[in-house]
Order: sequence, then C-alpha cells, then structure tokens
Amino acid sequence: MKYVLIIPDGCADLPVDALGGKTPLQAAHVPAMDAIAQEGMVGRSDNTPAHFPAGSEVANMSLFGYDPNRYFTGRAPIEAAARGLQLGPYDWAIRCNTVTIENQIMVDFTAGHVSTEESQRLLESMQAAMGPQPWEFVPGVSYRNLLIYRGSAGNASPFSSDTKTRAPHDLTDLSVVDDYPRGPGCDWLSDLMQRSAELLPDHPVNVDRRARGLRPVTHLWLWGLGKTPTLESFAQRFGVRGAMITAVDLLRGLAALVGWDRIEVPGATGYLDTDYAAKGRWAVDALNQYDMVCVHIEAPDEASHEGRVAEKIKALESIDQHIVGPIHEALKKQGEYRILVTPDHPTPVSTKKHAHGWVPFAICGQGIAKQGCVGYDEVQAGKSSLQFANGWELMPRFLSRSDF
Ligand SMILES: [Zn+2]
Repeated sequence: MKYVLIIPDGCADLPVDALGGKTPLQAAHVPAMDAIAQEGMVGRSDNTPAHFPAGSEVANMSLFGYDPNRYFTGRAPIEAAARGLQLGPYDWAIRCNTVTIENQIMVDFTAGHVSTEESQRLLESMQAAMGPQPWEFVPGVSYRNLLIYRGSAGNASPFSSDTKTRAPHDLTDLSVVDDYPRGPGCDWLSDLMQRSAELLPDHPVNVDRRARGLRPVTHLWLWGLGKTPTLESFAQRFGVRGAMITAVDLLRGLAALVGWDRIEVPGATGYLDTDYAAKGRWAVDALNQYDMVCVHIEAPDEASHEGRVAEKIKALESIDQHIVGPIHEALKKQGEYRILVTPDHPTPVSTKKHAHGWVPFAICGQGIAKQGCVGYDEVQAGKSSLQFANGWELMPRFLSRSDF
C-alpha cells in the first residue's frame, strides 16, 4: 500500500466578495482534487489547538499524526532540526531575527531582507562581544538565524514552557514596547536584545546599508524558543517509511524529527514561482522507494499573506494540475493506495494571516467508501460527517487498514 499526503499550505479560506462569495478553493478549477472527493470522501480537521500560535509549525505536526499538546515545544527547535543541529537535553533553540525597529515600532521583521553574509557578520560581532557564555549564534539564511543556549546538568537554562515571546512578523508596524519576552529567563533574552541594540547600529554592515539606502539591522529579536521535542519516529509509530518534499525549513525540520527522508527538488522555491511540475515528477519517482510521500507547497500561503486572491487561485490550480493529478494517476497504476489532500491551517486572503479553525480535506483509495461528494472545498467539507476536532487523529485513521 502506498500513501500520499499533499499539503497546499494555507489553502483554507473564507468567502471572498470579489469572488461572488466563493472561497478561492471554490473558485479555482481543480478537477484532480475534485476527482479525489468524488471517488472518496471529504471532511474537516482542526489542526491547531486554540492555545497555540496559528501556523505551520503546530498544524503540520497535527497533520503528521502527533498531538501538539504533547509534542510541540517551540518553533526554533524544529528549524534547528532542519539544519541538522544536534541539541542536547539541556539545550534550548531560540529564533533570532535580524530586524529593523525605529521609535519602538517594528518597521521590518526582515531588516530589508538583509543578506546572509551581512547577518553572519553581525552575529559574529555579537558572539565576540558576549565573551565566554552559554550562547551560540547560528547564522541561517538572510534574517532567519538561531541562537542556541548550551546548557548542562550543572548549568540548566533559565527558561521553561512558561517563557513567552512574540513572533516579529505579528508585530509589523506595531509598537514593540509591551512585546519583549516574558516569564522565566525573560531578563536574559531582553538583555541580549538590548545589547544588540547598543552594538549593531554603528556596525560597518549597517553603515554600509544606510549608505546604500537600505534598512539597517537595529536589533536581534529573540522568539519561538524551545527544547528539542522527542518524537517517536513515524516508522515506529505507524510502520510506514516516509519522505518529504518541501522548500520550507519548518517542514524539513518536522520531517527530520519524525525520521522522514527529505527530497530536495531543483526549482522548488517555497514561493509562487516554484516549479510545480518538478515537485510532481519527483514525488511520483519517490513512490518507488517509499511507503509514504508527503508533498508540501508553500505558494498558496504566500499568496494569502500578500492578499493576492488571483495568485492564490493560480497556485491551487497549478498544484492540482502538476502535483495532485500526476500523483493520483501514478498511484492508480501501481496498485493499492490512499491519497489525502489537506492544508495545515487557514490563511484567509482577507486578513493575510494564519488562522485557527477548520480545514477541508479530500481522501480516496483503498477501503474509503464513495460518499457522493461533488467536489473539494470548505463548504462541501463542512457538510461531511467526517469532522476531526483533534486534527492529529486523521493520520492514524488514514494509515489504518480499516475502512473509512
Ligand atoms: Zn502553513
């Protein structure tokens, strides 16, 4: 039996006036997704418990079949896993954005998409200024860096699950005065952020950026901290060997944590210009080697963040034509299979933000009865009797040999 999970990130949406009250998924021409609904069933799942941030990190953990209430420890450790960083039992990973704050307003959470090399030089200077400390800056790509607290039995970290931070992308154009870290160890984090604000503005990198009319990096913004979660491997839990196709570090990290191989597809960008057809072809190839293949496509989420409804529809149609269609055809040829199409969370184009709440899924294949649905969208899925209020219960059901 082969299994495929296709995740059009942030696909779920609300009725849009400009579409005559249809959702982008309703408005899109997606015959391959509709075929799955017609041959099988649709339903809904809620992948983000209310007390967690709405976003890919929690929602995809649910989609993979892991209860975030038990397993989610923070966003940074997932990204650390994506980069192959080993964290010990006393270590904490912390996201470290290079940002632009002016007059206490978060002007840009990317500091004008500062280059990787510039970020690296700034972090090297911070590291040098800190002296012998348990802190280790780990430069990433552009503004997305990590800070690791290297703890030990005798020198445990000051943090706990009650340490609260704010994601800088949620603060755009807002005052940051009340949004510095809170809870255990918050003084350490705030102090580091303060030191960055003293050290960075006159740094040669920033002098040069200002001269070029670019936004300076005024602060390091620390957030999303956590210890490495201990996730039982997917193969142990479900007896299925998986592989992941994605262009996004969070999904790479989650895949690494559950023991899936990552397949890097040339031309996959994580944006609207991604090579959809290449992702589809590589997924079909991967089916020869793996029991389960997961294909994640970030484009619908990016279109939503930019409020571009036409681009969102285009992304959904490209996913349908180049990924869902060819994979479903290939599955039919090779024998027994189940295929599941579902976004992780809603990202309405009207709000441009990730949201909590229901997402629609479509599923068909071995042992899945024909429900008689007309197509795949939020409204059809809302009428179905398949409603998973605990989103993480869908995956075990998908993988079970029992009938739907
Ligand atoms: Zn997402």
